[in-house]
Amino acid sequence: MRQSKLLLNTLRESPGDAETASHQLLLRAGLIRQLAAGIYTYMPLGRRVLRKAEQIVREEMDRAGALELLMPALQPAELWQESGRYEVYGPELMRLSDRHGREFALGPTHEEVITTLVKQEINSYRKLPVTLYQIQTKYRDERRPRFGLLRGREFLMKDAYSFDKDFEGLDRSYWEMYHAYHRIFERCGMNFRAVEADAGAIGGEGGTHEFMALAEIGEDTIAACTCCDYAANLEKAESGSSSKFIIGTGTGNLEKPEKFHTPNIKTIDQLVASLGVKTTEILKTIVFVADGTLVAVVIRGDQEINELKVKNFLGAEMIEIADPADVQAWTGVPVGFVGPHGLNLPILLDHTAAGMEQGIAGANELDYHYRHLVPARDMKQAKIGDFRTVKEGDPCPRCEEGTLKYYRGIEVGHVFKLGTKYSAKLGATYLDASGQAQSMIMGCYGIGVSRILSAVIEQNHDDNGIIWPLALAPYQVHLIPVSHNDETQMQLAMNLYRLLQEKGIEVLLDDRDERAGVKFKDADLIGLPARIVIGKDAGQGWVEFAERRTPGIKTTIPVEEVLERIR
Ligand code: ATP
Ligand code: MG
Ligand code: MG
Ligand code: MG
Repeated sequence: MRQSKLLLNTLRESPGDAETASHQLLLRAGLIRQLAAGIYTYMPLGRRVLRKAEQIVREEMDRAGALELLMPALQPAELWQESGRYEVYGPELMRLSDRHGREFALGPTHEEVITTLVKQEINSYRKLPVTLYQIQTKYRDERRPRFGLLRGREFLMKDAYSFDKDFEGLDRSYWEMYHAYHRIFERCGMNFRAVEADAGAIGGEGGTHEFMALAEIGEDTIAACTCCDYAANLEKAESGSSSKFIIGTGTGNLEKPEKFHTPNIKTIDQLVASLGVKTTEILKTIVFVADGTLVAVVIRGDQEINELKVKNFLGAEMIEIADPADVQAWTGVPVGFVGPHGLNLPILLDHTAAGMEQGIAGANELDYHYRHLVPARDMKQAKIGDFRTVKEGDPCPRCEEGTLKYYRGIEVGHVFKLGTKYSAKLGATYLDASGQAQSMIMGCYGIGVSRILSAVIEQNHDDNGIIWPLALAPYQVHLIPVSHNDETQMQLAMNLYRLLQEKGIEVLLDDRDERAGVKFKDADLIGLPARIVIGKDAGQGWVEFAERRTPGIKTTIPVEEVLERIR
């Protein structure tokens, strides 16, 4: 590609609202342009990178035996009503209606569509298992779209869905995807970790992993062992001492009996007994109601409440519903955080903004939480430490030697065992060998393809620009003749340009009539892996070779050696 013909405008300054390095560099290197909050155009260079990420994902999905299809983004609301998610999904679901007043949603994910499709297409055990995937634009009306491609409202996702006869089959399909994800992120040159994640009400033991690109700006916290390979999202993390914790269930402030809404539970022991859990050491657990809304605060037995990083360990976006100062005054205990649990914790669904709008978050009724919330997640099944406080330095729950260390991570992928959640609701059954109808056993697997760009840039840049890993670079080689007006230089550049292209190497030739300084600055910003500068030694057939990753190291080589340097 000749740079003079490329629609590429680099920016010297970062646009004011871009807070992270990746967001700034995506804009400055001319890879994307914003149309509206969380909605972007991929410019020619950005499009190339996105296609490369997409292609890596596609190849590894195909290798894993998954079949590609393409489903509609526009989905009838009835499907979502059938699965029960139309209400539950909340304001993140983009809703619209057609000219006849029929309601639709723009797909944030495709469980409903795929389950309905497979229900129609597959009815015998002979056709199972099958894993289907697509690479498609998704829509989520995120509350806080930000950081460029990291949290968009329109973004590219690879979503895959597996259908199996039984749970052993699901296990195989799941690990097949898990390993494919490892290959994908390795090929992308990413520094990542697969971590155990919180399955909420859906999954079983070990039923979900998130793939986290390690980066300071990551919105998730990961607890990882210093010794063994245990790593978990903090939402889910355990530690060797986490059996000391229990969760709050909305039984009232245990220190203020007159505030109790659940007359038969007045002590920690009764609470613990009511949960059907055992505990070794609980000194104090306060669970209370404020402003008509459940506010659960988990207290670690041996710690002051204000040491809790509740937001951290829930990993959820918080919705402020009560002023911590009020609660502090009310309980007489210093409070570091107040707010309902995140949208992704089904037990407290009633306390999401949507639930509150519907007026179902009431705390003034006798036994309200006990009757309504506890059964919502069958608290009898809850384990100690379901909402746990783990802190850095705690002993590892898996090995004897290690302790937990925290990292920040960007969720780039997610694999999830769904079981029969959707197949049962939407009637996706198959006939087994004896002619009995059985629900299909499902898994779902997502990758944020566009988010990969942000994550990779976040991990691969310096003060001057992006440092693309070879596999994702928009072009592999940047050819830069120093002087546009020097015929010898331009001639050699053109020869090299053709030669490299013949060898199947993607080359960007800076044939612009610009000062060398401008060309070099742009080249640093765009960040192609290899750079060949054709300057004053062109007459002798010598060029300068450098790699973007090691900007200080430049070698002058005869032009014949260029090919072997690049390969
Ligand atoms: P997050 O926790 O960041 O909101 P999620 O858990 O809601 O993500 P999933 O439903 O698991 O996302 O979707 C699969 C993948 O899609 C995620 O692992 C992530 O890489 C990507 N993704 C999700 N939301 C966005 C978004 N708003 N912009 C870009 N990528 C996204
Ligand atoms: Mg989300
Ligand atoms: Mg998530
Ligand atoms: Mg996820």
